[in-house]
Amino acid sequence: MPIDPTKPYDDSNIFARILRGELPCKRIYEDEHALAFHDINPLAPVHILVIPKGPYVSWDDFSARASDAEMAGFVRAVGKVARDQQLEVQGYRLLANIGKRAGQEVPHLHVHIFGGQPLGPMLA
Ligand code: 5GP
Repeated sequence: MPIDPTKPYDDSNIFARILRGELPCKRIYEDEHALAFHDINPLAPVHILVIPKGPYVSWDDFSARASDAEMAGFVRAVGKVARDQQLEVQGYRLLANIGKRAGQEVPHLHVHIFGGQPLGPMLA
């Protein structure tokens, strides 16, 4: 679905539906501000998505509208998932595609966590 920053958040997107429990996910971690689950089409042995619970399309949308508590909660959740998965020793990558031209398919902010293998310059 194209990302159009002039349009309001579309709550029919897949991650909104996962948050509402309408679609299943392989949940790894959840708290008040964030949900982490396995990517359905993993590009690395570890491929986790972390999403904020609020209706934010992109990083710029999130950082402009979210409360400090939401932002801190989301960043801490990403860190906790990486720690719990013990990714730091081998190294891991955080990635957020923002906008259609960057490859963002789902118009709900998500951070990819890649790990479990040596990572090249980019995971396209
Ligand atoms: P994007 O390209 O927007 O940065 O990443 C979207 C990611 O969501 C892709 O890696 C894709 O495999 C994943 N994805 C799409 N639909 C689903 C789904 O229904 N469940 C899960 N767990 N992941 C999904």
